[in-house]
Amino acid sequence: MRGDTTRVLIAGGGVAALEAALALRALAAERVTVELLAPEPLFWYRPMSVGEPFGLGETRHFDLSELAAQAGGTFTPGALLAVDASQRRARTSGGEIDYDLLLVATGAVPQPAVPGALTFRGPADTDRVRELLDRVDAGRIGRLAFVIPAGAIWTLPAYELALMTAAHVEGRGVDLVLLTPEREPLALFGPEATAAVESLLDERGIELRTGAYAEAYGDGALVVAGGELVAADAAIALPRLKVPRIHGIPQTVEGFIPVDAHTRVVGLRDVYAAGDVTSFPVKQGGIAAQQAEVAASAIAAAAGADLEPSPFRPVLRGLLLTGGAPRFLRREITGGFGETSVAAAEPLWWPPAKIVGRYLAPFLAGIAGVESPSATAPPAGALDIEVEVDPSAVANSYASRPPLPGERVVEDVMNADPLVVAPEDTLGELAEKLRERDAGSALVCDYGRLIGIITSRDLLRAYAERVHPSEGTAREWMTAQPLAVPPGTSLEEAGLTMSEYGFHHLPVVDDERPVGLVGLRDTVRSSVAPAARFRVGLGT
Ligand SMILES: Cc1cc2nc3c(=O)[nH]c(=O)nc-3n(C[C@H](O)[C@H](O)[C@H](O)COP(=O)(O)OP(=O)(O)OC[C@H]3O[C@@H](n4cnc5c(N)ncnc54)[C@H](O)[C@@H]3O)c2cc1C
Repeated sequence: MRGDTTRVLIAGGGVAALEAALALRALAAERVTVELLAPEPLFWYRPMSVGEPFGLGETRHFDLSELAAQAGGTFTPGALLAVDASQRRARTSGGEIDYDLLLVATGAVPQPAVPGALTFRGPADTDRVRELLDRVDAGRIGRLAFVIPAGAIWTLPAYELALMTAAHVEGRGVDLVLLTPEREPLALFGPEATAAVESLLDERGIELRTGAYAEAYGDGALVVAGGELVAADAAIALPRLKVPRIHGIPQTVEGFIPVDAHTRVVGLRDVYAAGDVTSFPVKQGGIAAQQAEVAASAIAAAAGADLEPSPFRPVLRGLLLTGGAPRFLRREITGGFGETSVAAAEPLWWPPAKIVGRYLAPFLAGIAGVESPSATAPPAGALDIEVEVDPSAVANSYASRPPLPGERVVEDVMNADPLVVAPEDTLGELAEKLRERDAGSALVCDYGRLIGIITSRDLLRAYAERVHPSEGTAREWMTAQPLAVPPGTSLEEAGLTMSEYGFHHLPVVDDERPVGLVGLRDTVRSSVAPAARFRVGLGT
């Protein structure tokens, strides 16, 4: 604290960071000073990148220091690298920053998930998609595949790309196929949305393959887990999201940060997280903004504002366009910045190009008119969607493979007595326990629930950061919400999961309680489709 003012450091300069800064200005006013920290000096507004290759709108970007100033804060260039929560100190690429309250809103990094396919990450890839469309136009691509990989949880862009391509190639005899690991298309949005998008795909002649885990593309075909080949002259895939390590903060194996209902980083004092960086399984701008508002209300209350912090109740909102409507004018889609000619494709979601954020949307509208499409009435036949998201439903929306009759399962071979430690065990205590049991890893349990796994490599990471053995705890350095399998998982399935992630061991859980540990050597490698993986403690 400096005088009566609480210093809030927000790491990030995207949707969640800006929404939080604006919410703090409204809720805490002069009780807080807000400093935004981000390595890139620009804020990218990405939703329109899906339409860009089709000439429908363009991705926009804004100067972050100007946005920060208008939101009542300051901007510092740099990347958050490590956090010492006990000292309230952030280590950044530009030096150390002391804070009173920290909000981590650093987003996630898209990674190719299907080797050989064109990965569509957003603005950076619109030229490559456009080049691919040129090849379609030149008659060199007769069959194009769109791929949603396992773990890509904002699936809408894949459907939008497929539908826009269908409109682009209409009547030219180009085959389009969409592969998704979902049981049903857009399963997360509920049965009405599924039915609507199914009939849209059908109407546009797009072949749909559900429960399909595409592994790679090459030699004119996609290889699908289980060995099936799906022919295609080219493939466009969504990325898988990952988060780089931020030392001193519990993260999942993909780097996501577990938070509680008030977006506090589980087990750390005065550290919050919001947006794609959290382990909440739906990565979407609207959800990121909702989390940012929750974080801002908790931070404002901690800074002395007279309010009751509201818990996170994630809701996906929007209108799914069912296709019965007339086509849009381009200006509607581009928010007034494009031409006014009739567009050849339609958006799937209304309002198009919109990230719903209570504070961010009007803010951007005020300074640049970004959200102006919302002023236009949605077309007739749109389906109103307001779905409260249940994290466990996300895991269940993926198809899984039950073990075959007589197939050996994890329970048959697992070590039923693994080393279990407490989250508050110090690194020194942990090292002793590992040595006593001659073990390389331990399961971290809180009230009997598995919340993490910690290995001797994590101890080395902590020591390299000069953390004292009696100060650092298992909770700060563990891999949080580890991948785990139920006892009835086939050995092939467990082996595949370990190979994919480069693990040597996998916890075995029964209703979130650890019942064993299975090793890679215990399993048999095969090419059977990965089943739904259990991640314990999702969205806690
Ligand atoms: C093609 C595409 C289309 C999309 N369309 C929509 C849509 O229509 N509607 C919707 O709601 N959502 C959409 N999304 C998703 C939406 O863009 C994201 O969910 C949202 O941007 C997440 O916000 P965030 O603040 O968590 O992360 P981001 O917006 O990604 O921001 C992360 C910020 O953190 C900074 N950063 C990174 N590392 C560090 C570090 N170590 N230290 C400090 N700062 C760091 C980055 O520079 C950036 O400023 C789309 C995404 C894509 C890719």
